[in-house]
Amino acid sequence: MTQGASVKVPALSKEISVPTGLFINNEFVASVDSKDTIPCYNPSTEELICEVVAASPKDIDKAVQAAREAFNTTWGKNVNGFERAKLIHKLADLIERDAQELAELETLNNGKPVRIAKDFDIGDTIQCLRYYAGWADKITGQTIEIDNQIKFAFTRHEPIGVCGQIIPWNYPINMWAWKVAPALAVGCTIVMKPSENTPLTALKLSELIKEAGFPRGVVNTVPSLGSVGGAAIASHLDVDKIAFTGSTITGRKIMEAAAKSNLKKVSLELGGKSPQLIFESADLDQAANWVALGICYNTGQDCTAGSRVYVQESIYGQFLQVLVNKVKSTIIGDGFDEKSTGGPVVSKVQYDRVWGYIESGKSEGAKVVLGGEKRSTKGFYVDPTIFADVRPDMKIVKEEIFGPVLCVAPFKTEEEGCALANATTYGLGAGLHSTDASQCMRVSSKLEAGTVWVNQYNILANNVPFGGKKQSGIGRELGSYALEEYTSVKAVHWNIGEKLEWPL
Ligand code: NAD
Repeated sequence: MTQGASVKVPALSKEISVPTGLFINNEFVASVDSKDTIPCYNPSTEELICEVVAASPKDIDKAVQAAREAFNTTWGKNVNGFERAKLIHKLADLIERDAQELAELETLNNGKPVRIAKDFDIGDTIQCLRYYAGWADKITGQTIEIDNQIKFAFTRHEPIGVCGQIIPWNYPINMWAWKVAPALAVGCTIVMKPSENTPLTALKLSELIKEAGFPRGVVNTVPSLGSVGGAAIASHLDVDKIAFTGSTITGRKIMEAAAKSNLKKVSLELGGKSPQLIFESADLDQAANWVALGICYNTGQDCTAGSRVYVQESIYGQFLQVLVNKVKSTIIGDGFDEKSTGGPVVSKVQYDRVWGYIESGKSEGAKVVLGGEKRSTKGFYVDPTIFADVRPDMKIVKEEIFGPVLCVAPFKTEEEGCALANATTYGLGAGLHSTDASQCMRVSSKLEAGTVWVNQYNILANNVPFGGKKQSGIGRELGSYALEEYTSVKAVHWNIGEKLEWPL
């Protein structure tokens, strides 16, 4: 088969045609110098779906050149906000048209249930694109008076340039939208590297980029291994900004590469070990529902997974019982099975990693109150597992697991609960459940996290910023805040009437 040709892959309703080449300058192409491919697997069956072209550093260079050319000619400052908005809206319309097909492809490669991929991941993606389309013609600076009638300055919020965007495998379409939408809205061009685990939907979305009418080179898609293509983007001298979501270890490498190359702007959305506090006044049934969502949604493969839960001592036993019953009702299964509420984890590597943590929890003496047993069938399945009476020094309490593994422990006072919650190097999300409004206000201010949820968990909105404190990241996605990540501010000082005397 020609390298980079489309292949037909099986799905629910019909076969889906998937492009397998690199998307550069609005064409799917083979690598310029490599025969390397990336095998894509179905995590529910462990079967190979297809192979896609793996970009080499030379291909990354070609994609960056395409993005630079577009930035300087047909995009960037050469197209106004109304036009950018029109194209982004068109892209959202096309994704809406193809939502079922995209959802099935996402399920095939990532494992999550089709219904969830369609209603949540793709539903949110469409809204995200429309939200940022709304911003495209509203990128404004300030006028600043300096010396009345004589001098003033104004600021222009200019597109930062060519953006490298490196995304993970847990929400392949959604993370694509969070990165692409604000960048396009302000006029940046893009070199997008999807995860090597889940490149298929990013390639399919590239077809829609072309169909929507974006000029060539505005969005380029280059599947590649992180250590090859990702590293080449991070250290590229002609990339102006890098936006990354993934592990803290990789985030560190990216920052280092940016520092050592051209000091490109960096935004990082990294891992977490997010806590939830359940106070004795909480509505226990509701709190248990939110905790279940926090750890079971997306099979725990979520950077804000609420993986540590601290419960006030007086309600500890009662809450644990309610929680176990709720979590038990989660149905982890094949994403194409309508009954499934969660799919397998994404890959064999992730499966082994999660099971490694479960074994470590057992050997460190944490009490298994739910799950903890492997299935004997095919597929990378991990049933929700709850460890109770955990200690702060246990590995499962300290490290991000990225699977449906929950640690639960009691606390006595509000002060102790907050101290336990904050005892982590991460600071992405945190939740608290209480019917005492003063307590909610106090605790939400004490929790060290970029997002705090009160009497709910893991609910995001496209118009609200999202990002981390501590080692969970730098910068913000979503809302108007994300626009700052993709613009650079130019100050123009203007002299209307001052005459300079020289020498001073
Ligand atoms: P990762 O950080 O290695 O991968 C994320 C992305 O970074 C991928 O596109 C990958 O190709 C790329 N990448 C890897 N090495 C790179 C490098 N040196 N330079 C540039 N890009 C590089 O994550 P992973 O190995 O897929 O998963 C490992 C762990 O990371 C998970 O178990 C989980 O704890 C965490 N994770 C977090 C998120 C999140 O949303 N915060 C997402 C995925 C994984």
